Amino acid sequence: MAKQVKTAISPTRDEDYPEWYQQVIKASDLAERSPVRGCMVIKPWGYALWENIMQAMDNLFKATGVKNAYFPLFIPLSFLEKEAEHVEGFAKECAVVTHHRLEKGPSGRLEPAGALTEPLVVRPTSETIIGDSFSKWVSSYRDLPILINQWANVVRWEMRTRIFLRTSEFLWQEGHTVHATAAEARERTRMMLDVYTTCVEDYLAMPVIQGHKSLSERFPGAVDTLSIEAMMQDRKALQAGTSHFLGQNFARASEIKFQTAAENEEYAWTTSWGSSTRMIGGLIMTHGDDDGIILPPKVASAHAALLPIIRKPEDRPVVMDFTEKLARELKEKTYHHRKIGVEIDDREIGGARGWDWIKKGIPLRVEIGARDIAQNSVYVGRRDQTPNKKSSFSRDQFVAEITAILDEIQQNLFQRALAFRKKHTVKIEDRKAFYEFFTPENQKKPEIHGGFAISGWCGSNDCESKIKEDLTVTIRCIPFKNENVKSRCICCGKQSDSPVVFAKAY
Ligand SMILES: [Zn+2]
Repeated sequence: MAKQVKTAISPTRDEDYPEWYQQVIKASDLAERSPVRGCMVIKPWGYALWENIMQAMDNLFKATGVKNAYFPLFIPLSFLEKEAEHVEGFAKECAVVTHHRLEKGPSGRLEPAGALTEPLVVRPTSETIIGDSFSKWVSSYRDLPILINQWANVVRWEMRTRIFLRTSEFLWQEGHTVHATAAEARERTRMMLDVYTTCVEDYLAMPVIQGHKSLSERFPGAVDTLSIEAMMQDRKALQAGTSHFLGQNFARASEIKFQTAAENEEYAWTTSWGSSTRMIGGLIMTHGDDDGIILPPKVASAHAALLPIIRKPEDRPVVMDFTEKLARELKEKTYHHRKIGVEIDDREIGGARGWDWIKKGIPLRVEIGARDIAQNSVYVGRRDQTPNKKSSFSRDQFVAEITAILDEIQQNLFQRALAFRKKHTVKIEDRKAFYEFFTPENQKKPEIHGGFAISGWCGSNDCESKIKEDLTVTIRCIPFKNENVKSRCICCGKQSDSPVVFAKAY
């Protein structure tokens, strides 16, 4: 007899968290590896999720006056070189185009030919190419502000890749704005971080901590980087969005100048901000359980799977008729600005069918059998509850209450994640306790460690690197909350002006 499988995913999170992550993605049909090393294929179930995230975010951006545009995939190498810190930050992961055609070589095989006079870098981010356009768009203070976003793909040549979390090519959005004053640019930087926070907390149901990055974790070329940090179930941090105040660094590099009202010529102030398909990795690791992913209803690829149960061939017409009518009625309804998404699965594969939808993370599974139809009822399983727990609803009651049920699931996921983060966030003032907190509890599970430590930091690079070297723990952010609360540096004991969040990170 086959070993009884208690959970749909093997290994479980406790047994091997990184492998659990890979298996969950495989079982969910969200995405798969591609023949190109480090790149992923996003399958329809995963892309629908991404579309919903994009839609939510796009609406939030536009509500703040941002407009979408599109810029080239290729950046002339000389553009990238204009900002010294910037090019240094990205140099090690650039894909570079050096030729523009193929010719048969002496061996008879196709070889690159037609060398470019200037190599083109496949965009790792677009500050420099967009900055070039901005320099032409801006001449007077009347042209400001410029508020642009681009939905695109970028390439950062990664040596170690993991689907959604770190891939050589990924999908993202990058916002770029130009302002007349530093204060206005800083305000925009913060505003967009708040937009990310709303999207990630309200839609992805992932609680986050907002804060500033330390100098070493800043975006290359930025004056200030703000981020939102979420805790995954292995208690590591995941950066779910960043917003950068670029000062005048990129304006100088790209010659973005404007005439002030007093007719002086000044460099403009710019910001940039980005979030990517990495958020999907975060969503999986925040909500997933040992049966697979759990999709928050507000961004779920679909909301309900209708599962007609056909025990006898003669039942089929009645059961399918009931199912299709129910689907039509549900699809008429709206849940958070989207029509309710319904999938009908009439494959006759027994219990495996229900498990398929559990692994795909769909919020609701609705079983419809001949006996239920006789009583005009349906049998509903919720993905935020154990697989065996199902409740009977009258058909009409279910139609009437589906949006309330989805809301309950959405809230439940957020509250669970928040409780988990609270449980594993500890204020630590003692250096020994700090080191113990980040020492693996069990050598067999090196990925399980403390969580978030809220501790003092003197601001020195030495203390930051010492902790990174000893524990592979980094400063995730200097949280806005508790800013200017004095304490002692966890490493050297000198005065700390604000506590910081220390954690291991993705
Ligand atoms: Zn220190």
